[in-house]
Amino acid sequence: MTDLEQFGLFIDGRSRPARSGRTFESVDPYTGQTWAVLAEAEAADVDDAVASARAAFEGEWGALTGFQRAAVMRRLGEAVADNAERLALLEVRDSGKLLREMRGQLTALPQWFHYFAGLADKLEGRTPPPANPNYFCYTRREPVGVVAAITPWNSPLLLLTWKLAPLLAAGNTCVAKPSEHAPASTVAFAEILHEAGLPAGVLNVVTAGDRSAGATLAGHTGIDKVAFTGSTATGARIAQAAGANINRVTLELGGKSPQIVFPDADLDAATNGLVAGVFAATGQTCMAGSRLIVHESVQDALLEKVIRRARSIRLGDPTDPDTEMGPVANRPQFERILGHLRTAADEGATFACGGSPDPDLGGLFVRPTVVTGVTPASTIVREEVFGPVLSVYSFTDEDEALGLANDTPYGLAGAVWTKDVHRAHRVAARLRAGSVWINAYRVIAPNMPFGGFGASGIGRENGLEAVNEYTETKSVYVELTGGTRDPFQLG
Ligand code: NAD
Repeated sequence: MTDLEQFGLFIDGRSRPARSGRTFESVDPYTGQTWAVLAEAEAADVDDAVASARAAFEGEWGALTGFQRAAVMRRLGEAVADNAERLALLEVRDSGKLLREMRGQLTALPQWFHYFAGLADKLEGRTPPPANPNYFCYTRREPVGVVAAITPWNSPLLLLTWKLAPLLAAGNTCVAKPSEHAPASTVAFAEILHEAGLPAGVLNVVTAGDRSAGATLAGHTGIDKVAFTGSTATGARIAQAAGANINRVTLELGGKSPQIVFPDADLDAATNGLVAGVFAATGQTCMAGSRLIVHESVQDALLEKVIRRARSIRLGDPTDPDTEMGPVANRPQFERILGHLRTAADEGATFACGGSPDPDLGGLFVRPTVVTGVTPASTIVREEVFGPVLSVYSFTDEDEALGLANDTPYGLAGAVWTKDVHRAHRVAARLRAGSVWINAYRVIAPNMPFGGFGASGIGRENGLEAVNEYTETKSVYVELTGGTRDPFQLG
């Protein structure tokens, strides 16, 4: 037990055990071995974290100007850059994601701190022209207060930063609750940010081996907002808990994103985009392009390319630079994916490739899977798998393609593959999704809003929109004449 890494709760600028002294373990999904021990937060610890965030909001952090917050945030970006390798390795051990992907994410994260630092000193109100000449009117943008950031296991630090950078820019404070399946990197991240100059209490982290700490936090009366990424089912529970306290939510939930391929598309580029969309990250991304909707005239040619590429994907050790797909991140998710594959087979689908765990590697490896013989009503077409599984069906004209693409409760992302510029923009406009890529897939940027239509969520992360999610608008009226007026008349 002694060589296991130890992680406490991070509350009020220091690492400490849970009040109960209880702990839980984190398992490396590649080795199947426990590698870390973490503190098991209970309600009293969540209370401490919320109280610390409140004190920081009402204290030193809340009193800073936007210029001062920007200066701190630029230092945070530098600290993340300096510690990218350690943080990436922690994420790999926690979630089994490829080191090359996590390195890429961690080295990109400073951009988020720098972009939102650039907005911290530009949160300006407005001076609407007077509707009544007796009053000068202006608006102020003020922070919402204490934000609970509840994150999933698939990219803990990226998805936390999407919340943290804009909320800090706007002057809020935070209690973060990472997933029970990948909790360690968030604790290390908070320690690094604190050492880099983030005052005590501005970012607190509570970890727990089950879902109770998250539920306690989401329904806590001491917070002002919940920012969540995860499944649609949990998002609905969080929205209910927040709603009971009339708290705001931002929800970034699941997806079943379509990739529409027209006959004039560059099929090699589309193949690459399909692989990036559903096999990169072992398909464990909310924006996974898990439905291929292909014109019937190019279906066979495209499928041949996709299957050839899927069969050649190198599965293995996520820290090996040659590996292209790592294991599924945890056993419950592995079982969930296999359950989806069984249902597909029961409903008469065919696996053009994959369709089972990897027989050589064992453990939590699922082979890249292409599912054919499905209809728009098939369960595998309708439900999020969150694994390396692509469902394929065809269309004959543009209207049909759009009808199929939009026939989903989700609306997170989608792609259109065509060389026809008219069609590309026409289809992009008609796709009911928060992000659309034309001849590309899985591209994100700090200044481009990200979020979903429909069951994919509420609100937007990234871009100017993200800061709005963390500010309240206050209207101020200033009486100009010094006179008194009829108190029984409005205005
Ligand atoms: P989840 O949505 O159940 O959990 C996400 C986070 O919410 C975790 O930190 C969890 O502890 C917390 N949580 C769970 N119940 C809660 C509650 N009642 N109140 C407050 N917090 C709560 O996701 P998961 O179990 O990690 O994965 C399950 C499924 O979610 C996956 O199969 C996948 O379909 C989906 N998922 C989606 C995303 C995404 O980015 N959209 C990410 C991870 C998982």
